[in-house]
Amino acid sequence: MNNSDNVRKPALIPYPWQETQWRRVERLIYADKLPHAMLFSGVDETGKLDFALALAARLLCLEPRGGHACGDCKGCKLFEAGSHPDLLMVEPAATGKAISVDTIRELITFATKTAMLNGWRIVIVNPAEAMTQSAANALLKILEEPGGATLIMMVHHQKGELLATIRSRCQTMLFPVPSRTQVDSWLQGNAGGEQIDRLLELAAGRPLAALRIAQTGMGEELQLLEQVMDSIVCNRTTPVQAAEALKALTPLDFVEYLLAWQLRDIRGKVEAGKPPERSLFQFLDQLLAAKRLAMSKANPNPQLFMEELLMGWQHARSIVSA
Ligand SMILES: [Zn+2]
Repeated sequence: MNNSDNVRKPALIPYPWQETQWRRVERLIYADKLPHAMLFSGVDETGKLDFALALAARLLCLEPRGGHACGDCKGCKLFEAGSHPDLLMVEPAATGKAISVDTIRELITFATKTAMLNGWRIVIVNPAEAMTQSAANALLKILEEPGGATLIMMVHHQKGELLATIRSRCQTMLFPVPSRTQVDSWLQGNAGGEQIDRLLELAAGRPLAALRIAQTGMGEELQLLEQVMDSIVCNRTTPVQAAEALKALTPLDFVEYLLAWQLRDIRGKVEAGKPPERSLFQFLDQLLAAKRLAMSKANPNPQLFMEELLMGWQHARSIVSA
């Protein structure tokens, strides 16, 4: 938790695929109906946090232009330096760690003070599902009776558990996986010559994941994954050896890729008029449960996590090909 030493890449305007959501907040701002608590919900790596930051910048800007933060005023300068006194980022100390009740108490103290600069006091909780049960309970009170110009934005990845009582006190905005057309020119411009279709396929359509794959050269890791999965089906390698070979992948990337693969497989069969085997759906259930685990605070052992899924994959395949 910090509001002074957190220098983040400035996000003054939303991504091109977030136009609908941005227009909605613009209408709320002009009608003076912006709620005090908003929940940005959707699949990870589609840019929800950057959207929250762009909205924070817009509200903290002293002279917004064309519906966005100007980038030049005192408010924008402080925002870009990561030292705006009216913006508080609430995040776990490390990825996968929890947001504690003490952190939420600091949030409440922050949110109830009057603004230093432009009227708004803004808090971004990222991700909301990282809050412990008692942290979430502590937050409920302020969500019920927030200060006059306080906005609490919560970034929430789908499937992450979140108290229904928190959810019901927030205005929810959904961020679905964008279409190919929506991300095309952005990805062309940022991924520099990489094969866009291939990147999006590897990233299951999530644009920021696609860019990350392009920038980290992770495409090679994923190609290796394809080869390894094939060797398992042909019994040339065991799930244990395969998991060892794939240790450069994070559990979440691994499960995302298998999910995309499995869904494509099932869709292909349906389109070809062949009913997909039950075992494919059972493996799909296993993958969805594994994804929840990978996104939870449980922090699973990567090797065991992958081994289990690879065994599930081997089992599903052996039934299909039998
Ligand atoms: Zn400005």
